[in-house]
Parts: sequence; C-alpha cells; structure tokens
Amino acid sequence: MLITPIEAFNDNYIWCLHQDNAAWVVDPGSADAVLAHLRQHKLQLRGILITHHHWDHTDGIEALRNAFAAIPVIGPDNPVIQGLTRNVQAGDCVGLDGLGVTAEVMALPGHTLDHLGYCIDNAVFCGDTLFSGGCGRLFEGTPAQMHHSLSALSALPADTLVYCTHEYTLANLAFASAVEPNNEALQEYQRWCETQRAAGVPTLPSTIGQECAINPFLRVDTDGVIHSLSQTGEALSDSVARFAALRRWKDNF
Ligand code: ZN
Ligand code: FE
Repeated sequence: MLITPIEAFNDNYIWCLHQDNAAWVVDPGSADAVLAHLRQHKLQLRGILITHHHWDHTDGIEALRNAFAAIPVIGPDNPVIQGLTRNVQAGDCVGLDGLGVTAEVMALPGHTLDHLGYCIDNAVFCGDTLFSGGCGRLFEGTPAQMHHSLSALSALPADTLVYCTHEYTLANLAFASAVEPNNEALQEYQRWCETQRAAGVPTLPSTIGQECAINPFLRVDTDGVIHSLSQTGEALSDSVARFAALRRWKDNF
C-alpha cells in the first residue's frame, strides 16, 4: 500500500492510500483535487475516512459520492457531517476494501469534540489533533481532553508514521524554538524541514518518536518546557495546566 499527499487549498493534505488501482482518501475537503489525482494515477475510489466535521476535511464528500456510487464514507457520529454511510467510535475496526488493511479508530477530542484518528498498519491519520511541531487549536474541547488525546498518540510506537492534515510545520517549529531554544534535535529537524519546504516537498509524514523529541505540546513534563512556561507567570500545577498555558502562548505567538 502506498500513501501519497493530495494538496488542497493553502496547506491541506488529503492523504490517498492506494493498492493496485484501489484508493481511499482521508478528509477530502476538495473533490476536484481528489478527482484530478485519481484520474492522473488511474485509481478507483473505494472509500473515504473522515476525522472531524470541519469543512476543509468534508466538503468533497458529496461530489465524490456522486462520482463513485455506493462507496463507504466513514466518520464520527456527528449529524453535522453530510454524506456519511457509517459512524464509528473508539475501538472500532474498519476493513478498507481493496487495500487489504484495517483501520483502528481512536477518539481524539480537543480540536473538535467529534475528532477521530485512524491507525492503519504503522501509520496514524490524526487530522487536526497532532501536527508536526504543534497541535490543533481548541475550538470545542478542553485542555484536559486535548492533552489526553495527544498523550494517547504519543503512546503509539515511536516508529509510527504521523499523517497530519496540514503543512504547518515551519510555523510550528518557530514557536517550538522559542519554547525550547536549546533543544538540539529540534534545531536539526528545523533545518531538515526548511530544506524540504524550499524544495517544495512536504515535511510529512513525521513519526511519533520525532514528535516526542521536538514537539513542545508532547513535552509539557520536560525540564526545558517547564522552565520556559515558568517565565509566563501562569499557574503550572500539573501537566494539563502546563498544556493549557502552552496552547494559550501559541495562540498569541
Ligand atoms: Zn479542523
Ligand atoms: Fe483542518
């Protein structure tokens, strides 16, 4: 199975999983981008996975269903999302027809309350929950929910490939460097990402091991992050309070 990015809008990636001529896409915000990719690579769409209800992840569903009759469209139990054929929740397993793999569903509330992640082989599709070097904004959930969701992702095996939905990496790393100016792994990764972007290449997928080394939102219990947060003057009684303070800092960065 191959996993390739389809670029959409300014900075979205619609991940396309394919095997032979069968394809699934994750979070098709744009049907046009997906249809062009399928045509170019002579692929047949066999299904859609949705992580959460935001338009940039769902707006392509209807046109893709019109183009490929009877495909499964799998996502969270949220009536706001039009065109789903099956609702799933944490712990459910979904066979991906034509790919010969199974997606295991994780609940990842925080960015939105309905947010799901999908683990497929050694990859995780985490939508707008974990980004490389950062995490999603808290539009609906609490800091405690998001911290819990990020902890569940960081507990995956270190070599798990992280497929996020946005290319936010360089902006996230600018913030990460302000939080941890002495993190050498972060500095090295930042140089690598700058080279990638200068060449027009995605910085994704990342890995869980890489994110645990460089992403401040997964590092709220490390001395470096605790030290930087102590200078913000916020109350830092526990991991969730530190996560909340770090997220507020990033929102104003
Ligand atoms: Zn979103
Ligand atoms: Fe998004």
